Order: sequence, then structure tokens, then C-alpha cells
Amino acid sequence: MSSFAKRLAQVSPSPTLQVAAEAERLRRAGFDVVDFSAGEPDFPTPAHVKTAGKAAIDANFTRYTVAPGIPELREAICARYRQDYGVDIAPTEVLITVGGKQALFNTALALFDPGDEVITHAPYWPTIPEQVKLMGATPVIITTRSDDGFAVHAYAVIAAITPSTKAIILNSPCNPTGALIDEATVAHIADAAAARGIWIIVDLCYEQLVYDPVPHNLAKVLFARHRNRTVLAGSASKGYAMTGWRCGWSVAPKELTAAFSMIQGQSTSNITSITQKAALAAIKGPQDAVFEMLDEYRRRRDSIHGWLTAHPGIRCVKPEGAFYLLPDVSRLLSPEGIRTSAEFARALIEREHVVVVPGEAFDAPGYIRISYATSMDRLREGATRMLRFVESLQPSRAAAPH
Ligand code: PMP
Repeated sequence: MSSFAKRLAQVSPSPTLQVAAEAERLRRAGFDVVDFSAGEPDFPTPAHVKTAGKAAIDANFTRYTVAPGIPELREAICARYRQDYGVDIAPTEVLITVGGKQALFNTALALFDPGDEVITHAPYWPTIPEQVKLMGATPVIITTRSDDGFAVHAYAVIAAITPSTKAIILNSPCNPTGALIDEATVAHIADAAAARGIWIIVDLCYEQLVYDPVPHNLAKVLFARHRNRTVLAGSASKGYAMTGWRCGWSVAPKELTAAFSMIQGQSTSNITSITQKAALAAIKGPQDAVFEMLDEYRRRRDSIHGWLTAHPGIRCVKPEGAFYLLPDVSRLLSPEGIRTSAEFARALIEREHVVVVPGEAFDAPGYIRISYATSMDRLREGATRMLRFVESLQPSRAAAPH
């Protein structure tokens, strides 16, 4: 519409919606659809967290709160950072947001102007570059590759810096690759950014979901060398299975946090009062549920990764975090048959009723994203159908899941 704001011309809708609509159509038609497209845990919110939410309602904790979040919750996040990362932050550096998404959106609003360049890495979660574009700034994309473990290399990021670079956005663990960015890389990038006054924003929304005992203390690395230009975005959504409650947070210098608070005060105000009490129980209470879910995700990751990579046509990095696999299916594509990963995903839905997100959604053509935030039975069923589909494109003697 010509009377809509110009900024809308820069932004694209979520490409996953098309796949979701087709899956819904088949489900309504009565087909047994295996859905690997979910971007959220399949576990219920832990019982003690639900109880805290219900208690908040019963205690009539149902009014506006202060915009940046109730002090106990801001303090609980400081305590968690102290315990998990050994870093000291003050409540004035923490803002409670409507999911990690609003933490990132506040950051974009507070920092990016038209003409600014913001470096990030692909394959990416599409919201990251779209928020940059909404501000009239320009995303500058560093491409990572599966044959390199989707590693983000400091030299590639630093080479993309220009006088217009305002910020670097990193996502670790990464959606959709499942890759981690190692501490040495972040340190190297931070040193280059510090010398030029560039902000580093790290989307840590999957920080609780790291499978192997590898060092991933990005908060400590950044605070030691670049604290006054670091923004961390966190979330209760994935680690605590709380996507619908909508709770995230930012950790940023005090003055920037005050700016976020002002933006929030003029837009959404506080996040839901009830959610704040539930999130307090999640963050302050026992963390056993997080580890139980992590153990189950790890079992699923190992199983589905093993089943799919038994076929020589599928190459797939084993993810180190989050709950996605991003297999490279480009060997299965051909000019005469299925030409793109988008066509691959469409044919997989049509023929086998298995829903995956095509890599095109993440600036990763040739790949598909599989979420393993679903039960082992559904994973086995979906993998069996996928292998049958792949076998029809490129016969082999791959073993069926067992
Ligand atoms: N970052 C990444 C990489 C994500 O995948 C998501 C959710 N899909 C978010 C942030 C935001 O999640 P939420 O707003 O629920 O915290």
C-alpha cells in the first residue's frame, strides 16, 4: 500500500509461514504429518514455574509493574550470571523484555540509524537482519559453511568492518546451524571492535542448550575486554520451555539499559506481571529441569543425526547447541529433478508429509532445517520417511532407523 510507511518496503515476512500453511492443510485433510519445523521446545513448562505463575494470579499480582521489570527478577538474572559465568552485573544493567526478540528489537531501535552497517553471520535466524532493515540500516552478511562446521571466523568478520559499521551481531548457539562461536573468536572480534568503538550484540537465547562440555563463557570474554559496548540478549523461552510466557532480557551498560527502558516504557511497558513471577521461579529455582531436557535433546540429536547421515547423499554437521540440524541436501538436487532446497521441502511435505524448513529461509540455499524438539517416536517416523524420500532421489544401501 502506497500510504504505508516506507520502512516496510525493506522488510520481508517470515518464509516459514508458507511451509506451516501447507502442513496445516494436510493435517486438516486427515494426513499423519510429521512436523520438524517447530522452533520451540515440546516439553511443558516445569511444574514449579507453572505453580509460581498460578500463585501470582491468586495473589492478584496482575497490575502494571515498573517498565524494566520487577527488581527481584533483575536481581535473579544478576545472580544467575554470577553463578553461571562468574561475572558481576548490576540490576541497572538488566532489562526484562517480551522474549529475547524484544531485547534485540530494543537494541536495534536504540543503536541503529539509516546508513549504519551491521555485520552478522549466515545461515541466520531471519529476525536478526530483518530488524536491522526495519531501522533503515544495512545488514552485512558473513557466510559460514557446513564443511567448516559453520564456524564464524574472526578474520572474516573483521574484514567486513568499514567506517559505517555500527555493530556486530553474533548468535551462539546458533539457530539454525546449532554451531557455537568459540571464546577465542569472540575475543579476537571484541578486540577489533573495541579499537573502533563498534558494538557487539550476542544473541544467547539458546545459552542453556549446549550439549558438550566446551567452554562457552562469552559473557566473561566480552566483559573482560569490551564491556561498555556489549549487549547480551537472553531468554527463558528455550531453556525453560516457556515460549508462550514471553520472557527475555538484555544485559547492557547502564546508560543503554536506561534507553531500552524508555523505549519499552513508550511501547509495550512491562512484560506480563504473571510471567515475571514465573520467570523468577525458573531463574532462581532449581535448574534440574533444564538439565533433564538437555539430556533428552542430546539423545535425540545423536539419534537423528546418526540416522540421516547414514545416507551418503546427506551431509550434516553435528550441532553443539540449540535443537536444530541443518543437513546439506545439495547433493540430492539436480537441474532435471528437484532443483532447490525449497522444492525439496515442498516435495517432502507432499510425498511423505514431513515438514522441514527450507534453507532459503535462513539465507542457506541447499540446506534444510530439522527441529528435534519433538518426541523420539516422531523423530524415528520422520527419519524413516525422509530416508525413503531421499532413497527415491538417490538410491543407496542406507540403513533404516532402528
Ligand atoms: N534468537 C534466536 C536465534 C531465536 O531462534 C529466537 C526464537 N526463535 C529468539 C532469539 C527469540 O525467542 P524469544 O523471543 O521467544 O525469546
